[in-house]
Amino acid sequence: MEHVFPTYSRFPFDIVDGHDCYLIDNNDNTYLDFTSGIGVCSFGYSNKIIIDNLQKQAKKVWHISNLYESEIQDKVAGQLCNDDQLAFFANSGTEANEAAFKLARKASDKTTVLAFNNGFHGRTYGSMSLNGNPDIQKGFAPLVPDVLFADYNDEKAIDLIKPDLAAVILEVIQGEGGVNVGDKIWLTNVQKACKDNDVLLIIDEVQTGIGRTGTKFAFEQFGLDPDIITSAKGLGNGTPIGAMIGKKKLASAFGPGTHGTTFGGNKLSMAAASGVLEQLTPDFLNKVQQKSKAVWKFLDEEIKPLSHVTDVTGLGFMIGIHLDDSLAVGDVITALQDKGLLTLSAKYNTLRLLPPLIMEEDELKQGLSQIKAALQ
Ligand SMILES: *Cc1c(COP(=O)(O)O)cnc(C)c1O
Repeated sequence: MEHVFPTYSRFPFDIVDGHDCYLIDNNDNTYLDFTSGIGVCSFGYSNKIIIDNLQKQAKKVWHISNLYESEIQDKVAGQLCNDDQLAFFANSGTEANEAAFKLARKASDKTTVLAFNNGFHGRTYGSMSLNGNPDIQKGFAPLVPDVLFADYNDEKAIDLIKPDLAAVILEVIQGEGGVNVGDKIWLTNVQKACKDNDVLLIIDEVQTGIGRTGTKFAFEQFGLDPDIITSAKGLGNGTPIGAMIGKKKLASAFGPGTHGTTFGGNKLSMAAASGVLEQLTPDFLNKVQQKSKAVWKFLDEEIKPLSHVTDVTGLGFMIGIHLDDSLAVGDVITALQDKGLLTLSAKYNTLRLLPPLIMEEDELKQGLSQIKAALQ
């Protein structure tokens, strides 16, 4: 690629087509997809309901500003929220987190936010300033001030949650940071400290949400009740979308003129998101959980014991296979590509798997068997 900034080191092929859980490149190679983009295309590449919704909307209006009522926005917000919540629509995960950061400061009339080492929230200034990863921030100082960091899953973090904080932001499973699963008791203690000290709890569900871990949002499985939730990746199955969901008590801080976006809530993305959420039924999520059981049985019995594997972490269809230093994750990813399987990495030499939620058990096992062979 000659005309694009080299912000990514890219694999030397172009995905030009796809169907179900399969992708086809410009050399006519077919791949089984264990990436979903990066946790985005959870319903695969030929979902009839989402395509129908998009095609119907494409023949009407694609875009109109947020200066008019939008029935489809309100419908998707209704699908996303419970009775005590409201949504704000943006175009990406980082924008959803910007909205959360701004709302938390404005609603609390305080400035300081506690975030966690190895957390990831996006690449715009606000969200980047919340990332617990100095590599991502290098060269971009000064960052947004008044952000504190603590170690994830560390009891000492609880002591930092004092009434002078505006908010705490965390992922219940850190995705980019290495698929680090939050400890349920620690998370409960964080939430309790937030409630006791009048601090808002923001949970970033950009990667973990929309069924990825077997429930609509991952925090449900940790028994949490955040004040603000952010969503993006899987929400539009590939159309650009982000959402911030907040408790209704925060509404007065986000009145007319306080925050906005030209494209956020556009009708094409809403049409796709509506199709995603319509299919994210209890029955569908139950199937994801059933398939996850088979996946985790395989991971525990066949992958964990391998000599290069130090640990396997994650939940549902969000999996991190941690490799020792003698095996570089990049080499594993390339070897798997040559065998027709697409996978991802995360921090600390982690092979990350985010297969589409619609993938059948036999395809999941086929991919996992290929991974086992490659790691051997
Ligand atoms: C990907 C990701 C983001 C950023 O989303 P973009 O759409 O790339 O801006 C934020 N938070 C988490 C947890 C993510 O995984």
